[in-house]
Amino acid sequence: MSVSIVEVSPRDGLQNEAVPVPTDDKLALIETLVSGGLRRIEATSFVNPKRVPQLADAEAVAARLPRGQVSWIGLVLNERGLDRAIAAGLDEVNVVVVATDTFSRRNQGVGTADGIAAWQRIAGRAKAAGLRTTITVAAAFGCPFEGEVPVARVREVVAGCLRAQPDELALADTIGVGVPAQVRALAAVAAAEAPGVPLRWHFHNTRNTGYANAITAAELAGDAPVALDSSVGGIGGCPFAPDATGNIATEDLVYLLDRSGFDTGVDVAPLLPLAARLGALLGHEAPGQLARAGWFPAV
Ligand code: ZN
Repeated sequence: MSVSIVEVSPRDGLQNEAVPVPTDDKLALIETLVSGGLRRIEATSFVNPKRVPQLADAEAVAARLPRGQVSWIGLVLNERGLDRAIAAGLDEVNVVVVATDTFSRRNQGVGTADGIAAWQRIAGRAKAAGLRTTITVAAAFGCPFEGEVPVARVREVVAGCLRAQPDELALADTIGVGVPAQVRALAAVAAAEAPGVPLRWHFHNTRNTGYANAITAAELAGDAPVALDSSVGGIGGCPFAPDATGNIATEDLVYLLDRSGFDTGVDVAPLLPLAARLGALLGHEAPGQLARAGWFPAV
């Protein structure tokens, strides 16, 4: 069994950090991630630099990405973002539709239905430009403004998004409220509404449930392709979601999956010192645990 890990630290990991991270440091981070075997990396997002100043250097980062081994992903919220991702030569776009209207308006200025319509236009244009597409349904496990998000609502949003035939469907616990029972319920929604579409999951560890959710998603996938988002050190959060905290940590996730019999292709050896160094770069310790505890048995 194998699980593909999508490294999101350069985008989700950094976007909420108060200290501006220089472009050179981002590229050094990315180089280390590549050396650890990560082969899908969300490098940046093409959003309004006034709203997310940390990622204002999207084009500068994209221009210096080492090409060849890695599929480079850019997050986009609208057609303007798509234009920038195409011009920057990225391989994939990750397009976000938020499952609740309130959060959708705060995150991208339009309600969910308009977000789905925008995704449908983006999907057609991205495919025509040769980019792989992921549709991420954000706040699928809960909303910071509307609270519980009914499974029926997620089903409706997934069905609307699937009409544009994404290469991958991602379900995101944007604020880290989800539990494994929800993973099972949403996996059933995906199986019903998006049969045959590869699944990707995005978990935050805000309430210490991120790893339980991740192993549940991996086990549910069986032989079907599955991808899990994670961020080295467990850094991350959404600037438009109050109190959102870190993604699940890549090195901790690799430990969990590896010792549970899943192949990830990722070597944590270069990631552990990187995770330990993040404190100096960001001004606070990264929450991931493996960089402190070490692999077991020790190598
Ligand atoms: Zn996130």
